[in-house]
Amino acid sequence: MKTRHLVPILGFAAYSGTGKTTLIEALLPKLTEAGLRIGMLKHAHHNFDVDKPGKDSFRLRKAGASQMLISSRNRYALMTETPEAESEFHYLLSRFDQQQLDVILVEGCKNIAFPKIELHRDEIGKPWLYPNDDNIIAIAADSKVNDSDLPQLDINDLESIKDFVLEFVARKGEIGKEITATGCCDTLSPAFLSVAQGQEKILSLVNCVSEIEPCSLQQSYYRILADDIVSPVNVPQYTNSAMDGFAIRGDDTQRDNYNVVAEVMAGHAYDKEVQIGQAVKIMTGAPMPLGADTVIMREQATASGDNVTFNGASIKAGQNVRQAGEDLAIGANVFTQGTRIESAEMGMLASLGFGETKVYRKLKVALFSTGDEVQAPGSEQKPNTIYDSNRFTIIGLLEKLGCEILDFGILEDNEQVMIEAIKEASQQADVVITSGGVSVGDADYIKLALDKLGQIDFWRINMRPGRPLAFGQINDKPFFGLPGNPVAVMVSFINFVEPALRKMQGEVDWQPLKVNAIATEDLRSKQGRTEFSRGVYQLDSAGRLTVRTTGKQGSGILRSMSEANCLIEISPAVDTVKVGESVTIIPLQGRI
Ligand code: AMP
Ligand code: MG
Repeated sequence: MKTRHLVPILGFAAYSGTGKTTLIEALLPKLTEAGLRIGMLKHAHHNFDVDKPGKDSFRLRKAGASQMLISSRNRYALMTETPEAESEFHYLLSRFDQQQLDVILVEGCKNIAFPKIELHRDEIGKPWLYPNDDNIIAIAADSKVNDSDLPQLDINDLESIKDFVLEFVARKGEIGKEITATGCCDTLSPAFLSVAQGQEKILSLVNCVSEIEPCSLQQSYYRILADDIVSPVNVPQYTNSAMDGFAIRGDDTQRDNYNVVAEVMAGHAYDKEVQIGQAVKIMTGAPMPLGADTVIMREQATASGDNVTFNGASIKAGQNVRQAGEDLAIGANVFTQGTRIESAEMGMLASLGFGETKVYRKLKVALFSTGDEVQAPGSEQKPNTIYDSNRFTIIGLLEKLGCEILDFGILEDNEQVMIEAIKEASQQADVVITSGGVSVGDADYIKLALDKLGQIDFWRINMRPGRPLAFGQINDKPFFGLPGNPVAVMVSFINFVEPALRKMQGEVDWQPLKVNAIATEDLRSKQGRTEFSRGVYQLDSAGRLTVRTTGKQGSGILRSMSEANCLIEISPAVDTVKVGESVTIIPLQGRI
């Protein structure tokens, strides 16, 4: 998330009982005296109300105003109901009129990444926060610590705390940058990227295949349309009955008795015009006879011999009839180029009479595993080896996307072998994917090989699992060097490779599905990076979407992926999600 604030944001973080509010209350007059205009954001864990029952604003709010602004000569207050979920930190900050402020002080929001002063009193008996929170920029306490380089202030010396805050505000420009950095997880090192930055870079560097081919409808499942589809026919083709019943004229609905002159089944027609006093027995889907435009359902009719009566049923002219072209008229836009053909699209194309479509050619993806310790499955395990699982996970992921797979097997940790193999692969395929060998401290063969082959960047993505990622071009073909750990491989593929492959296949504007669910267990992450835990979501008995993790989250535990039906995405700005709080999930059905 990119959020730029006009003023520095400074928090006070402490366990309850430390006296945060009392300290800030005493500090504020000193700061305003020094000329600061102060905004305060206070987080409350419990439900609160600033309104008084019985007051007009209270009554109007309870009557349904989801935003209630009350104003008078001296102040105004905007109360906004947020029944779905608590508003995001940066969104809340953006509610301030920052033009009118010099600083925003925050009480609470301990788990959000932004600069904070830790308040600590030994007598409260709570642990220190600074060892686990990189965002703490100073400590104000009643004792000293020895293991920290942070500025240390005396919690009882308000003057020195005031001076610190003034100095912080004076360094405004610099601090502003820091806030943006933590909020969107930018860092100074160019090789360190947020998930979104990595995705953007990759997407900007890959292109759709240019070749188009005809494809029979039978073979078109999961291919991408290379043309817009315009309806060549009316759907339905002819006006027909929506019910089993009797067709009559719309200007002849008041009669007690009708003479049944014919019976039409679907696929057949009555070729005479229906006259006043006549009815035609008709089946669902059968064409409406000339003259008739109204159908009375069978359940409302009593027939005897050639006569039918509708027992006084109220009849509306034109009822129970589907008009020609009602679903789709000739010339209507049906699908745009770049649409993926799934079951419903297959059916739609068929209903329009297409036996063949134009699609982009299939994407060819070359695939390698790397590492001397990696052994192909299907043979007895040799000492000091692990079976190659990554190639098979990736084969599955590629199959799902309908790619043509060129399986190049396992590459030994040998620079020359790698150079030859990857060069060969890049000549045959549209994309090359490897796993393993891209993390720091690896036997660096693949890095050496890649350096000689083309322009490859080694990124560290602020995410877990899946921090190392190599991306670049070999022979003008995109190259992905995924990490070695089996879960990291899948998470990296889902986040970086899949969107790129979809774009290369010709799919337009694909977005992964993301929804919110309520955490049923505490989830921890590290501020500044995106955490992708493996999760299981389900509806609870109250019909709420909830999510739990699959348990142990080690990046080598592939079982966690197998048990999961979603990834839980914890954004860089958050380090703890508590039971009952809302968290983003990425459902995986249909993707893995
Ligand atoms: P690397 O990045 O090459 O150091 O690999 C990280 C970890 O992933 C190591 O424990 C490797 O043994 C493991 N690993 C690498 N490639 C594979 C593979 N194809 N299948 C399963 N595990 C792998
Ligand atoms: Mg390796």
